[in-house]
Amino acid sequence: MLKLFFIVLSMFIITGCQNIFPKVKTDKTTRVLKEKTDTQSHKADKTIKILKKEIHTQNHKVVLHKLFQTVNKKEAILVQKGPNKKYCAVCGMNLVKFYKTSHAATDSNGTVHQYCSLHCLAENLSQGAELENPQVVDAHTLKFIPVQVAYYVVGSKIKGTMSKVSKYAFKSLDDAKKFQAKNGGKIVDFYSAWQIAKKDFH
Ligand SMILES: [Zn+2]
Repeated sequence: MLKLFFIVLSMFIITGCQNIFPKVKTDKTTRVLKEKTDTQSHKADKTIKILKKEIHTQNHKVVLHKLFQTVNKKEAILVQKGPNKKYCAVCGMNLVKFYKTSHAATDSNGTVHQYCSLHCLAENLSQGAELENPQVVDAHTLKFIPVQVAYYVVGSKIKGTMSKVSKYAFKSLDDAKKFQAKNGGKIVDFYSAWQIAKKDFH
């Protein structure tokens, strides 16, 4: 009788254990899976964060190097005075951003004005402004030169400022020719470039 009791007890223990073990195992498996999922979602979060950062950096880069005209702040020569010295005297655009097409001239009061483009200089003249000593940025050296000595490459594939027909000026004919060989357009003097700029207004 006692033996039978032990047999029943043993069976009960074994059955009990069988019921317990899978449960423990399942719990453990669930926990491992959960941890794995957590790690994976953490990894995914991390990946998304990295991707977002890369996209942000790319956008940042695009903004910085988007335009051919844009130069570093340190490279830009700003000849105006006062709080608005960084902005085109006619349209108000940022002169550092559109530096390589920038022009400058002095009015009858001796005040120097800087423009984002030949377009804005031409507009100022058409408004009746009396200007002297007109200058343009040499797109190669980034220094101002008198417009009379500049070679303008007009209508190249590089986008212009305020105009569908781009105009980039060079002091050296060689530099103008190199730019033209790479980007197209024709080489003209200031007067011709100005006449082409005036067509923007018709
Ligand atoms: Zn302008």
